[in-house]
Amino acid sequence: MELFPVHDLPEISPGDDLAGLIRERVDLREDDVVCVASTVVSKAEDRTADLDDFPPAPRAREIADNLESVTGESKDPRFAQAVLEESTEVIMESPFLLTESRFGHVGVNAGIDRSNVPNADLLLLPRRPSASAERIRAELPADRVIVTDTCGRPFRHGQRGVAIGWAGLAPGRDYRGERDRDGRKLGVTVENVVDELAAAANLVAGEGASGTPVVVVRGFEWGDHDESEAQFRDVEGDLVRQAVREWEFEG
Ligand code: GDP
Ligand code: MN
Ligand code: MN
Repeated sequence: MELFPVHDLPEISPGDDLAGLIRERVDLREDDVVCVASTVVSKAEDRTADLDDFPPAPRAREIADNLESVTGESKDPRFAQAVLEESTEVIMESPFLLTESRFGHVGVNAGIDRSNVPNADLLLLPRRPSASAERIRAELPADRVIVTDTCGRPFRHGQRGVAIGWAGLAPGRDYRGERDRDGRKLGVTVENVVDELAAAANLVAGEGASGTPVVVVRGFEWGDHDESEAQFRDVEGDLVRQAVREWEFEG
């Protein structure tokens, strides 16, 4: 399997035909997986916003005040309002804002970015990243598309790419029921393929100013394994989330 970036993509603007820009620059094969950074999907979908678009309700003021007193940094209640409007649940509000976004992804600040956003204060994640992936896929010779974002994780330092949307492939490769080398049946292994590909693509895309938001994965084979449609955990089965909901930060 190899990965390579698509070079010479321009600064992406609202209404840009991302798939067309990709097609012009690379000869794609049917079995390529095209990984696209959510940043450029959002730019193409005009998901930029200004802080003034989010007049803060009392709840947003409360969150910002709380964050300010805990972190000692000034926090804009309009930003808290933007995060709330992008979210269906606040899982943790201090010492940072962790929410579930409207499409099911749990992350800090609902994935709203303040870097790589010219001419606006904020860049929101695509409204429905899997629908975005499907639209891009429909215009490409490649059969599989993943929309990625750079995210932090609990327990480990640093950020890496994760898949927030996908089309043309299942998110998981299900090994349950297969046998290991000793003949023992695997009971729980569902490999999160879209996250693994997103992490590899993100490594090639780089951060900051590299200018390579689209990465092609060539030669990835699914193999003879079942598919798993699950990506985001159901709340009922998510024990860590339930614990975090109950927990309160004490300085
Ligand atoms: P995120 O991981 O989706 O939040 O996006 P990043 O801000 O980390 O950007 C991912 C990659 O895309 C980096 O290599 C950026 O330099 C690049 N990038 C961001 N916006 C643009 C753009 O409009 N045009 C091009 N050519 N590259 C961009
Ligand atoms: Mn991002
Ligand atoms: Mn990134």
